[in-house]
Amino acid sequence: MGAESSSRRRCTPQGWNFLWGLKVKHKLKHFIWKCLQGILPVNAVIRERCSKGDSVCKCCGEYPETIEHLLFFCDNALAIWKVAPVSWAGLECLRNNFGHWWEEIREARAMESGQERIELTVNVLWQIWKSRNRRQFEDKGMDPMTVVNKATREWREFQEAQDVDGGNGSHTTNGKEGLGGWREPEVGWVKINSDAAVQQKAERAGWGMIARDCLGNALGAWAVPDTCCSSAKQEEALALRSAMLMAKQQGWRRVVFESDCKQLIDSINSGDGDSDIATILLDIVSLKSNFYKCCFSFTRRMNNSVSHSLAKLALSLDGPAEWKVVFPAWLLELLQADCRGSCSISV
Ligand SMILES: [Zn+2]
Repeated sequence: MGAESSSRRRCTPQGWNFLWGLKVKHKLKHFIWKCLQGILPVNAVIRERCSKGDSVCKCCGEYPETIEHLLFFCDNALAIWKVAPVSWAGLECLRNNFGHWWEEIREARAMESGQERIELTVNVLWQIWKSRNRRQFEDKGMDPMTVVNKATREWREFQEAQDVDGGNGSHTTNGKEGLGGWREPEVGWVKINSDAAVQQKAERAGWGMIARDCLGNALGAWAVPDTCCSSAKQEEALALRSAMLMAKQQGWRRVVFESDCKQLIDSINSGDGDSDIATILLDIVSLKSNFYKCCFSFTRRMNNSVSHSLAKLALSLDGPAEWKVVFPAWLLELLQADCRGSCSISV
């Protein structure tokens, strides 16, 4: 379940530069550095180095607490990743060696919003460690969603603080777009963000939809598991179509549909047939007639975190979940964090 420290890949100088250049608090960089060096003081490491204490994980009480167990395999970590707004699907097989896993996610830095995703991931890892410490030293558990909300909040606050300071230049060229969080629609409009989560291996998919008004108030939230699993793009298209059906049912007349799948939004707006999703696109086009006005906009994944969390939640559901009027506390917290981002940037 754990990796031997001898098999840890040595980080290259570029690797270290990348780590030290991340837009996260210094203590978080130091934490990742310790993980990469295999010296984070988890129970198995302490046992191995000092022959002291019990190597078993206190969170689950089942396995030796290696760095990888703590961060990826422990029930505590799994529950947190399940609701986290970042996922590194496809890298599951690398999780038994933190160094290898880190090398792979580092590759994402060249992708759109890649750097931000990595920084958010670092915050999630850090909060997993902090929640483990609460369990270890105070014997207190923490709700996974609270852990994720803390990670998201601290990540956003740090990003914003950096932007206000003028940043350090290296990757602020993306501009504030993309870092600003969710943006409210115009008065009289409803905005529905949709997202899909796909677990190819388990052949499961889930859709998440969140509807908000011009003040950022939630009007409805949906987490819908899909009975079969198609490609990520198809699932994104199905999630958006489902958002349109929900909006139609609610009788909303002016609606912005927002997705972080650029190809999908481009296909809808350009009218260019995309063969993978041709039939779903036809449905989407015909559903437009149910609205007085509707439009489709692309947003970065970072600004789509609420629907993303709902989509991930849907993966573990047996049937669709819907919230209207009354919303669970974790969802309200997510919404608040999302709105805070948008409010502070638009000043
Ligand atoms: Zn454990």
